[in-house]
Amino acid sequence: MPVNAPHVLVIGAGVAGASVAYFASRLGARVTVVDAGRHAASTVPSALVNPVRGQSGAVDERAVEGLRLTWALVDGLAEAGCPVPHGRVGVLRPVPDGRARQKFERHLPPELPHAWLAPEEVPVPLAPGWEHALWLPEGGWLDGAAFTAGLLAASGAEVVLGRAVGWDARSVTLEDGQVVCGAAVVRCGGSVGASWASEAATHRAGTLLTLDRAVTDVPVSFGAYLAPAAVGGVLGATFEAPAASWREPTLPLRSLGWLLGRAEALTDLGGARVVGRWGGTRLSGLVTGRTPDGVWRLCGLGSKGFLLGPLLARHVAGDVVRAAPG
Ligand SMILES: Cc1cc2nc3c(=O)[nH]c(=O)nc-3n(C[C@H](O)[C@H](O)[C@H](O)COP(=O)(O)OP(=O)(O)OC[C@H]3O[C@@H](n4cnc5c(N)ncnc54)[C@H](O)[C@@H]3O)c2cc1C
Repeated sequence: MPVNAPHVLVIGAGVAGASVAYFASRLGARVTVVDAGRHAASTVPSALVNPVRGQSGAVDERAVEGLRLTWALVDGLAEAGCPVPHGRVGVLRPVPDGRARQKFERHLPPELPHAWLAPEEVPVPLAPGWEHALWLPEGGWLDGAAFTAGLLAASGAEVVLGRAVGWDARSVTLEDGQVVCGAAVVRCGGSVGASWASEAATHRAGTLLTLDRAVTDVPVSFGAYLAPAAVGGVLGATFEAPAASWREPTLPLRSLGWLLGRAEALTDLGGARVVGRWGGTRLSGLVTGRTPDGVWRLCGLGSKGFLLGPLLARHVAGDVVRAAPG
């Protein structure tokens, strides 16, 4: 490490913070990550890397670049000895009717490889009623916790376990009174971090069911999603009403009934058994860049943490390292 390498402090070791740490260290920075070790949405057991979002089919203008970077990182982590369970197997988006298809088509950029399939051509037998299916060959799924931990390990960052209760442009104060000083501070605290900092934001708690086996070999998504996971498969996700702050996760029984109904509308579940659940909270309203107090931010990744998180982190890390005194 160069003698005058800037020392970058990152609060939060979810996919946002781990990605900032990874790219900052590749740019020559010395990095310390402070993490409370609690409530990271990034431990999602199977995250879709899906460029075509929701039931409107919206495509972020950075989606193609983001998805290719995420897969390049998965490859790089494997080479560095941090394999990430994943399936770069495509994503299937069943679409109920011609009107919905038109809506999707309006959003599809020419540079995003895709194909429209008739129900009899799809790689997964769909339940009756779907008129069209959009095939996204570059999509897939990955293990959120392994990807995030791999980036953090590959960054070589020093990790300090603890909750940050104060920060300014050059320092972070921990709950136990310890002060860590550096050349720049980047806050990547996700939903729980925004809540601990009493910031106004929109939080949505979500629950996935983990299954004893993958119902489909490729992720299938419309309303709900079925996807393989490192162990078994997942059925995701319920999303509860937006809330003004993070809350301790509960078991949303009513929403789980809805989720199972949505899954059966996608395909035959073939007797797959529910073996567990995973809950997390996503934060909407992307904030990226330097705030007036001199602290950098990357948070509010919404449902695109693994599609756009690393790409946005690469931009933030570049700006931070360029601006930080060595
Ligand atoms: C049910 C569900 C399903 C999802 N599915 C997908 C999907 O299929 N594809 C996809 O791309 N995305 C998906 N997401 C979204 C994705 O999980 C999030 O966008 C992403 O994980 C957010 O990452 P983050 O690093 O911003 O926050 P987090 O992962 O929440 O990490 C924040 C970290 O910061 C720490 N922290 C916060 N404040 C402090 C502090 N003051 N001091 C110390 N540490 C602190 C926390 O303890 C935590 O470890 C899903 C989310 C949910 C809830």
